[in-house]
Amino acid sequence: MIVTLKDGKSLDCDDNPFASGADGAAHWSKDGTSLVKFYHNPESWRSASLEAILVRFIAIKSKEKKEEEYWQKILCWPAGIVTSPRLGVVIPRAPKGLKKLACFITPKWLNKHPEDVGNWSARLYIALQMARSIKRLQGKGLCHSDLSDNNVLANSSDGRTYVIDMDGLVVPGLQIARPVVDGTFGYIAPELVSRKISDPSVQTDLHALAVLIYQILFLRHPLLGKKVHDRDPEKDDTLRLGERALFIEHPTDASNRPERLDWSYKLCGSGVGALFEKAFIHGLHQPIQRPLAFAWERELVSLTDVLVTCLNPKCTLKSFPLPEIQTVTHARLKCPWCQQKFGGFSLAILHWQKPVAGQAGVFRPDGTRKVAWPKGQLYEWHTSLGAIPTPTMDAKVLAVFDNLPQKPGPIFLLNHALPYLEAADPGVSWKRVPVNQAVELKNGRKLRFGLPGQTRDAVVEVIQLL
Ligand SMILES: [Zn+2]
Repeated sequence: MIVTLKDGKSLDCDDNPFASGADGAAHWSKDGTSLVKFYHNPESWRSASLEAILVRFIAIKSKEKKEEEYWQKILCWPAGIVTSPRLGVVIPRAPKGLKKLACFITPKWLNKHPEDVGNWSARLYIALQMARSIKRLQGKGLCHSDLSDNNVLANSSDGRTYVIDMDGLVVPGLQIARPVVDGTFGYIAPELVSRKISDPSVQTDLHALAVLIYQILFLRHPLLGKKVHDRDPEKDDTLRLGERALFIEHPTDASNRPERLDWSYKLCGSGVGALFEKAFIHGLHQPIQRPLAFAWERELVSLTDVLVTCLNPKCTLKSFPLPEIQTVTHARLKCPWCQQKFGGFSLAILHWQKPVAGQAGVFRPDGTRKVAWPKGQLYEWHTSLGAIPTPTMDAKVLAVFDNLPQKPGPIFLLNHALPYLEAADPGVSWKRVPVNQAVELKNGRKLRFGLPGQTRDAVVEVIQLL
């Protein structure tokens, strides 16, 4: 059938829908680039709401082309309004190779499709992009309202992420973009489940985001443990996800802890760990305390910098975050997923330092690290003050870690394109490391990436892993 769009264009799409849901039926476009969703019974405000999402609140638009391309890749934004034969919306078709997030977090599915386990570094990237997407929506004053494992498509091997179902976006407080759903089972915030509030909000989205991040990283739900609240399964669900919701890893109340808990959220270290505590301990029933999307983004970015690769080639998840080791001399470590010993070598870690305001030449650790894993790379945002990677930031590789020139041996930092790189041992003056030259990462050695006070410094720590 030929459908007419509000802007006067037309589109040829299949006569029969390939899917039908509660509020509409979806038809593929003949050219294969999009789908058209027709609403079964469009509400009186639906047309104005779609118009607002497409024009006033369009989160994929940016002055910078690079940024616009980035958001188009991760937010499935409606592309047009269909006016004839009846009200509908044109939605871009998801890129090939993406599946519903449910495939990557459901043990039953993963047992049958072990390839969907993917790897942990891609999972971390999915978590990061989900946080970025929600930050972007909230920056425009929008709430997704149905964020769930059905409405995020991803690839657990390469980390691609695509948030869908944007035609249901809600503008809290605005009469034209109203919530029509509470959300999906398992993702609805406790205050909505227990009917303390009636409408999804930015804060209920933040609950769903925390649940999804926990699930993609740990392959289990943070609230569905062993505790039974009522014999009636329906009442039980309302209680365990609503007024009596309890984190399965609660530090003082173990009543909802599953029989097997092979790994803890604590393996993510103190930064991401504190956010899980805010989301599922302090903020579970106090929405105002829930971590904001930008906090997730910042901490998940830091976590990508401490990933190491398991030594077991058959390890299911393949990489894990290096624990925050307190001892400076040596440590015994294991892969949290397969228990393979992680040791028999030394590892260099850069501890980032920020200049102290008003005290020239004084630097303090800012709590973030970068593991000098062979082939690991430094980008502009590593050395910049307070920066995190953004879609528009220069992604040029500035320096690479490598155990050149002799292998295996000490780790070096090879200056690819850093205009300014200096190194110094304690008590010794700074020495320039020009482009195409390398500096050995020795314990206690300092690295400087720009004029003092304009960039972060790093102090190298070398640990012996037994
Ligand atoms: Zn392993």
